[in-house]
Amino acid sequence: MSDVLVVLEERGGRVSRISWEAFAAAQFLGAAQHQPVSAVVMGAQTEALAAEVAAQHSGRVIRVEHALLRHYTPDGFALALQQLIKSEDPTYVMFPHTYQVRDFAPALATRMGEVLIGDVVSIGEGPTFTRQFMQGRLTGAYRHTGDGPCFVSVQAGAFRAEPIAPAGADGACVSTFTPTLDAAQIRTHPGEPFRGSEQTVDLGSAQRIVSVGRGIKEAENLPMVEELAKALGAELAASRPICDNGWLPMERQVGSSGQTVSPQLYLAVGISGAIQHLVGMKGSQCIVAINKDAEAPIFEVADYGIVGDLFEVVPALTEAVKAAKE
Ligand SMILES: Cc1cc2nc3c(=O)[nH]c(=O)nc-3n(C[C@H](O)[C@H](O)[C@H](O)COP(=O)(O)OP(=O)(O)OC[C@H]3O[C@@H](n4cnc5c(N)ncnc54)[C@H](O)[C@@H]3O)c2cc1C
Repeated sequence: MSDVLVVLEERGGRVSRISWEAFAAAQFLGAAQHQPVSAVVMGAQTEALAAEVAAQHSGRVIRVEHALLRHYTPDGFALALQQLIKSEDPTYVMFPHTYQVRDFAPALATRMGEVLIGDVVSIGEGPTFTRQFMQGRLTGAYRHTGDGPCFVSVQAGAFRAEPIAPAGADGACVSTFTPTLDAAQIRTHPGEPFRGSEQTVDLGSAQRIVSVGRGIKEAENLPMVEELAKALGAELAASRPICDNGWLPMERQVGSSGQTVSPQLYLAVGISGAIQHLVGMKGSQCIVAINKDAEAPIFEVADYGIVGDLFEVVPALTEAVKAAKE
């Protein structure tokens, strides 16, 4: 056994963002364990997906191709991957922690006498895989001890997609694996794919976010923060009370019951830093917090902290940003 396989998902014909994050996690693990990483794409016509991956990856790309994989079914995907894993004999099999993966990967792992270490937020020496409990209040470190491959799914936002190694001069090596599948083995008929509520803003892809909390006090004060977001070219986001009050739409909520984000800049304005908020934004590259309470927990995760009244700091910051751009 000598390989890390990472199984990527497509959304709208492209590799999904969270799949690239799982890819980054696989590359991190592969580098730590001195093992090559192979990417897996699945479906009935995966040429374009494989080409998209090959442009980013100098290792192997495996197309798992079969007419019965045209639409996702848990039986089809689990059976096909089981055959691939038997043939490849990898040490690690990694996935993005999506609804689809939650649907089939535990069954796949069980069939192979293993378990899925799900929703992993970091990878440590050993390797150990860290998971969170109780809204992030507790963490547990897991080490794989079985004989078969170690199955791991990676939480959205836990790894940054950027460190993906660019393709080498020769590009990746793309191969095709054709599993033996029979329609009678597939016990479900695929319906319309699940879609979350239509979102006009994808905070997960935003590079800069200005996020506002209850410190703003009134909905009428929001334009002040919006102006700062505009000056910074940032998306506006919020803590839960702001969305619960209907001051901003739910799609702008960051946290355990909102979106998970990992921008280059996360500017938290009047947000205390409750654990349910932190789990959604702590993967940000640079966190700046403005809060009048020097003891606010947000400062524990902040790279830069401004202790002060947001009603004074935000307009001054907006002016400074505008002036810097002139
Ligand atoms: C099951 C569950 C799920 C949850 N999911 C989420 C979630 O997804 N996202 C989320 O955000 N929360 C979530 N919460 C709620 C979470 O526990 C907190 O209640 C919430 O994050 C607090 O929001 P806040 O920081 O805006 O408000 P507060 O905790 O009230 O903090 C306001 C902050 O503003 C500061 N402030 C006040 N006035 C000023 C001023 N003039 N200048 C500067 N600073 C000022 C205060 O010092 C304070 O730190 C969830 C809770 C539960 C139980």
